[in-house]
Amino acid sequence: MADAERIRRVARRVADARAEGNGVIVVVSAMGDTTDDLIHLVKEITDNPPEREMDVILSTGEQVSIALLAMAVKELGVPVISLTGAQVGIVTDNVHTKARILNVDTARLRKELDGGNIVIVAGFQGVNDCNDITTLGRGGSDTTAVALAAALKADLCEIYTDVDGVYTTDPRVVDEARKLDMVSYDEMLELANLGAVVLHPRSVELAMQYGIPLHVRSSFNYNLGTIVKEVDSMERSLVVTGVAYDLDVAKIGLYDVFDKPGIAYKLFKSLADEKINVDMIIQSATRDERNDISFTCSRGDLKKALAVVQGLLPEIGANGVTSNDSVAKVSIVGAGMVSNPGVAALMFEALAGEGINLEMISTSEIKTSCIIKADQAEKAVRTLHKKFNLAKNIIS
Ligand code: ASP
Ligand code: MG
Repeated sequence: MADAERIRRVARRVADARAEGNGVIVVVSAMGDTTDDLIHLVKEITDNPPEREMDVILSTGEQVSIALLAMAVKELGVPVISLTGAQVGIVTDNVHTKARILNVDTARLRKELDGGNIVIVAGFQGVNDCNDITTLGRGGSDTTAVALAAALKADLCEIYTDVDGVYTTDPRVVDEARKLDMVSYDEMLELANLGAVVLHPRSVELAMQYGIPLHVRSSFNYNLGTIVKEVDSMERSLVVTGVAYDLDVAKIGLYDVFDKPGIAYKLFKSLADEKINVDMIIQSATRDERNDISFTCSRGDLKKALAVVQGLLPEIGANGVTSNDSVAKVSIVGAGMVSNPGVAALMFEALAGEGINLEMISTSEIKTSCIIKADQAEKAVRTLHKKFNLAKNIIS
């Protein structure tokens, strides 16, 4: 949706989908860099924008898009109407700039569809119970689309993006990265949360919850993209499906913390009260009634987190604090990992072979993540992609 020509192309595609006999709802995002530009504009006025007003301004980008796309569709002689989040009845909670959708009223959508209209809906926005505009967090249009698909029990939700689908890893880092034809919800959720930015993580959560199949595909061509759906174990061919990395990671280490009940509670409650999102947490083995605790957060939260930690030192007894914001998280994801022992060891072997030190490790049923030096992240991703044969679609 970057310019008029692209909007006309989208309009034709939408009209084609309707000509094939589908009822069509289109959720659009803002044009090009509009949302970033609006954020810059705000920064020229204040360093401390009220979040309510932030949502008022950020939601305007999508309003421009829906009107232009509706006009372009109309030019093709196809009946169409544009609707904002509020007009649809997308109700969210009250957390401005990061709201979650609570309810979608389908009455207006149904009425417009039944009347023969293509419906163009502004993504990324809703209203709270006071009728104030809210937004869903960057990339949130994906979530609007899935929420509407779920509310209407649609057969399919297509997500159009600027890449051909979901890749085994970031194609900018690994030339041989391969587009996946199919990926399960749980794998996609891990990939989205671990730094693969194709889809808004909440959209994957919703799709999984309501069983809406997603087709992630390019808006520049008609190629098949990646289907995200429930995949049963018979269909799973790969132990490791993808390699993700995240550079927005900072690490804090606390040494010689008192080993007694309530210490971790105090620490992480205080961080949560400051709205600091903690990711990995590692507590070491106890020695002399002391142990070490380390955790990660986003780089932007590091300063705030350190201030919280410093304030707690007397209470939690830590003898030392270290921090590092030049780290990265590299992860392997694959639903087959649950039933295949030794996958983590293969990962560690490959990284060791490159002389990459593992500063922290965490695992879940379908992923293993390591914190390493940030400047080794790309090498680690390339190494792991090779180790698990991801360039080839074979059983590894
Ligand atoms: N326009 C919003 C953003 O840039 C929402 C989206 O793109 O999905 O984050
Ligand atoms: Mg997006």
